[in-house]
Amino acid sequence: MAPIPGSGLAKGLAVTLRTMTKKSVTAQYPDAQPDLPPRTRGVIGLFEENCTVCMLCARECPDWCIYIDSHKETIPAATPGGRERSRNVLDRFAIDFSLCMYCGICIEVCPFDALFWSPEFEYAETDIRDLTHERDKLREWMWTVPAPPALDPGAEEPKELAAARKAAEKLAAQQSPPPTEPHADEQARAAERPTRPHGDSKQQTDQPKPGQEGTP
Ligand code: SF4
Ligand code: SF4
Repeated sequence: MAPIPGSGLAKGLAVTLRTMTKKSVTAQYPDAQPDLPPRTRGVIGLFEENCTVCMLCARECPDWCIYIDSHKETIPAATPGGRERSRNVLDRFAIDFSLCMYCGICIEVCPFDALFWSPEFEYAETDIRDLTHERDKLREWMWTVPAPPALDPGAEEPKELAAARKAAEKLAAQQSPPPTEPHADEQARAAERPTRPHGDSKQQTDQPKPGQEGTP
C-alpha cells in the first residue's frame, strides 16, 4: 500500500511535539557541573608517605603505565651494636593517563593504602605527553579524594583509629595537671562544720513549735 502523502512529516512533527513537552536531561557542561557519584573513577591520587616502593602496583598494572624509580638508603643502627637497616626511597612515581584504562587494579593491590581514586576528571591536554602525571601532580590529586563513607553504627572501630584515639588519650592524661590536695585549713574547717541530721526538711518545719501544741 502506498504511503499517504505527508504521513512522514506528520510522524516527525508528532515526535517533536512529544519531546518538547518532556523535561530536558541535557546538562550544559561546563556551565553546569555534573553531580558525580562518590566512587567516580576520575584520576588517581598518590599518598606518598604510605608508599614503601614495593612495586606491586607497577607489576600488576595491565597497561604498564606506572613508572617507579627508587634507590636504597642505609639507616644506621638505633642502638650501639645493633644492625644497620636499609629502606627504599622513592625517586619517581608517575602514571601515564593516556594509557591508563581506569581498571583500579593498582589501587586494589596496594598493600599500604597509598593510591586512591579522585572524582576529578578535568585534566584533558593538547599534548599527550602532558598526560603523564609525576608524583607532585599525583599528590595534588590526593587532596581531592573524598572522605570514606561513614561506618555502619554497629561496626568495629578501625584499628588505625583505635590506636590514634588511645595515643591521644594517653597524651592528654600526661599533659593534664595532677589533682591538688585540699589545704590543711580547709580540711580542719570542714571537720568542724556541724552536720545536718538526715531527713526531709519539710517534715522538720511541719512539727509544732513549743507552746503551739493543741492550738487549732
Ligand atoms: S587503573 Fe589500571 S591501567 Fe590505570 S594505572 Fe591503575 S592498574 Fe594501570
Ligand atoms: S603498591 Fe602501593 S606501596 Fe607499593 S609501590 Fe605501589 S603505591 Fe607504593
